[in-house]
Amino acid sequence: MKRWSAVLLAAFLAAFPALAWQDAIRLRTVVIDAGHGGHDPGAINKNSKLKEKDINLDLALRLGALIEKGCPDVKVVYTRKTDKFVELAERGNIANRNHADLFISIHVNSAKSTAASGTETFVMGTDKSSSNMEVCKRENSVILLEDDYSTTYEGFDPNNPESYIIFNLMQNAHFEQSIAFAALVQQNFINNGPVKKSRGVRQAPLMVLWRTTMPSALIEVGFLSNANDRSTLNQAAKRQKIAEDIYEAFHAFKQQYDSNSGFEIDASVLATDEPEEEPEPAVAPTVTPAGPHWEIQILASAKKLKNGSPDLKGETDYQCRFINGMYKYSVGNFSSREDAAKQLPAVRKKFSGAFIIKVD
Ligand SMILES: [Zn+2]
Repeated sequence: MKRWSAVLLAAFLAAFPALAWQDAIRLRTVVIDAGHGGHDPGAINKNSKLKEKDINLDLALRLGALIEKGCPDVKVVYTRKTDKFVELAERGNIANRNHADLFISIHVNSAKSTAASGTETFVMGTDKSSSNMEVCKRENSVILLEDDYSTTYEGFDPNNPESYIIFNLMQNAHFEQSIAFAALVQQNFINNGPVKKSRGVRQAPLMVLWRTTMPSALIEVGFLSNANDRSTLNQAAKRQKIAEDIYEAFHAFKQQYDSNSGFEIDASVLATDEPEEEPEPAVAPTVTPAGPHWEIQILASAKKLKNGSPDLKGETDYQCRFINGMYKYSVGNFSSREDAAKQLPAVRKKFSGAFIIKVD
């Protein structure tokens, strides 16, 4: 009997090799993380009595229901389905224990300035520009509400900039996939979302993402401190629209993931920095190759780097573009994504966060 099973299996695999292969690389499990909860309300608005934790949970449940309906082959796991406190480390542990293929953390932003508005999606990175650090301090400091946080997080202090050095030891194994998902989220927000303004895809040292061992992103769906965003987030129909936008991104990501043909990343939605405060300088970007092609982005900077800057690590043959307030540096000029992918490991030896971009 046993031998027959093995023979049948071998015959099956020989007849349908593509089927067996596809089965092995499919996106099967997603973890949806509603930020905050219980005695941690997250951002609050006193006048409207709106709490971030409630909006996060509502969006998480709406998103989960859409995935369960639209992608019945995907197992949806929630870090919380009720108003309860979950430690930051445990949120990542839940994803790791379930061998999740994608981790989606949902949050609402808040800022001192009531003018700040719009959506932004973060992936784990070590960029410590000031606007990103504001989000980091707020989202990371929830660990201070935990009983034993200094043991759990090995002395990490979210308010001490020096503490953030631990993140420099990060592995970038899922960086490209994380960026791909985050870019799809922002694209959908820009195209269809009730909160139209996009602050782009950003990198930041976020503990909850750092703890996960799969592609992950943290979505800030709007600002509770901004009257327009707050009014949008307060309407169930608009929250449903936001959940649908994230679902569309998830669905597109899953299709690319399952096809194993690599990810297309729209570079135009990556990292905008302080759009209100930084006017575009008059300098034109350096000459770039014409026509659609692929390049490998090596770094992004709020300031234009001089030739020979240590940040460029000796790289002299690169393209520089000024996009949405950031100088994006990239190398190579490939006619296909596959050609760029071949070169990527070599580039990552020098620039560990490098990823492929499509340039039109
Ligand atoms: Zn939050």
